[in-house]
Amino acid sequence: MKCSFCGENIVPGTGKMFVKTDGTIFYFDKSKCEKYFLMGKESKKLKWARKK
Ligand SMILES: [Zn+2]
Repeated sequence: MKCSFCGENIVPGTGKMFVKTDGTIFYFDKSKCEKYFLMGKESKKLKWARKK
């Protein structure tokens, strides 16, 4: 299992799992990775919204 943000291997029993509302599952080794990943997602969404 690898971190969805930095690609590092996650030791089983550690890290965090995040499930999006559409059912997509992401894994993170550190809460920092989760934070930056979610921040990136939100800024992307804002850009798309502006283009439309
Ligand atoms: Zn990571």
